[in-house]
Amino acid sequence: MSAMTKARPGESSEQRLSRLQRERIDRALTEGEQYGFQEDSSGTFAWCFNPVSGRFYQVTEQSCTCKDFEHRAGPQSLACKHIVRFLAWRENTR
Ligand SMILES: [Zn+2]
Repeated sequence: MSAMTKARPGESSEQRLSRLQRERIDRALTEGEQYGFQEDSSGTFAWCFNPVSGRFYQVTEQSCTCKDFEHRAGPQSLACKHIVRFLAWRENTR
């Protein structure tokens, strides 16, 4: 467990989780501005493209193929920055 994901002194587990989620929302609002999304033809997920890293991820409302979701966000039932941005994109394209 890295220092960033550890609870801080005096912090409850709820406060810790909400801090970790806020950090991801902040990242979604800044670097996520540039993400591109496209529904896959299977209709079961969308592709998220990060033009800065050149990486593609498969995103749904509840899952993402990025390392953060796999190792940190997912196991704690948090949304990674891609999911946060995906939900906003879906909201705006409906
Ligand atoms: Zn992700």
